[in-house]
Amino acid sequence: SLDITSALLERIEQDNVRFLRLQFTDLLGMPKNVAIPAKQAEKALTDGIGLDGSSIEGFARIEESDMVLKPDTSTYAILPWRPHENAVARFVCDVCKPNGKPFEGDPRYVLRKVMEDAAKDGYVFNTGPELEFFLFRMVDGRPTTQFQDGGGYFDLAPTDLAEDVRREIVLALTEMGFEIEASHHEVAESQHEIDFKYSDALTTADRVVTFKFATKTMALMRGLHASFMAKPIYGINGSGMHVNCSLAKDGKNAFYDADAPLQLSETCMHFIGGLLKHAPAITRVANPTVNSYKRLVPGYEAPCYICWSASNRSAQVRVPAPRGNSTRVEFRSPDPTCNPYLTFAAMLTAGMDGVRNRIEPPTDVHKNIFHMTAAERNQDGIPTLPGSLYDAHQALLADDLICKALGPHVVDALTTVANAEWDAFRTAVHPWELDRYLAMY
Ligand code: GLN
Ligand code: MG
Ligand code: MG
Ligand code: MG
Repeated sequence: SLDITSALLERIEQDNVRFLRLQFTDLLGMPKNVAIPAKQAEKALTDGIGLDGSSIEGFARIEESDMVLKPDTSTYAILPWRPHENAVARFVCDVCKPNGKPFEGDPRYVLRKVMEDAAKDGYVFNTGPELEFFLFRMVDGRPTTQFQDGGGYFDLAPTDLAEDVRREIVLALTEMGFEIEASHHEVAESQHEIDFKYSDALTTADRVVTFKFATKTMALMRGLHASFMAKPIYGINGSGMHVNCSLAKDGKNAFYDADAPLQLSETCMHFIGGLLKHAPAITRVANPTVNSYKRLVPGYEAPCYICWSASNRSAQVRVPAPRGNSTRVEFRSPDPTCNPYLTFAAMLTAGMDGVRNRIEPPTDVHKNIFHMTAAERNQDGIPTLPGSLYDAHQALLADDLICKALGPHVVDALTTVANAEWDAFRTAVHPWELDRYLAMY
């Protein structure tokens, strides 16, 4: 590691880097960073840099707030939108306690721990997300919900005015080491999607966080607001973060079995079984805002029932057509407001429960679930996803396995956040209520 440090110091010098951003993520998945002059690089790489954890959402109380950021040397990347002379580079950091031990409230640590547990059985968890977002106009420096374009699914210019912005986002991300697989206009006006290549879940979670702030930055430079809110506008599609995922063992895709039904291995079937069993609890972290639940309603390509299908896009878990090394399951409920570390940690915990305890998934659903009546769903044993942040939080508290994987520190902090958020929402008087009742009563 002394070698790595000296190689990095040399690289920092060669790249004309004058500032380092030490990046980490709070409990809500918000990126945080502190800038230090490059001259401090050696100290940062060997001893870490201190921070006051009590000022970070979900981190620590005032009494035990001293923490240390330890840069992960594999995450060095230049911020391409900053000047190239006197450049800025970032490191994603682990958050540690003053004694050097990992801090239980660091979402990155939570995911790492669950991945280490799966590694005991020889598994690597790979994830590939599909991030959707809106590009909205800014007026007087404030984001609005005004569309920037009127395009639809896969439309191209001149309908799609956002082409240039998407291009710049893709170029910036590529410079930061992303392998972009596709970028396109999504179904709703002003809605877009950019997909990047899968990797192990920790690397991917780092990238999701980077993706969001890079996208916001590139949009802002064109006077637009990139919003990852789950359902910004009533009546049209919301934004999802579908997570394609698979387990690898001995360098091979463990979800593929040429001789099995649907060519899906037992491991894959059991993983699906675990995902569905723990789906209500996962929802708390995969859909963490009050607004997330306005996306999970029938009719907008977002799931609201707990089931799987080999093709059907109305199911929560879908198995995309490719097989062989590309065999994967697509978990369609998460939205881009989620903390990707906690979401992947909960998904892997659930899937590994399935694999270890050989949980058989229910039979797959062939019908369009949105066209089934409640009685038909009941008869087919298809449960409904939690309908609100409150319900999802109760589902989390009732799921010992997922709570244990997140750890008591994170569960307590999530409880504080959910209670505050739910109370604020539940007691507020919304414009809908005034429209509906003010004149009537
Ligand atoms: N926007 C949809 C969602 O909320 C997905 C649409 C799609 O990718 N086909 O999940
Ligand atoms: Mg897609
Ligand atoms: Mg999409
Ligand atoms: Mg998808």
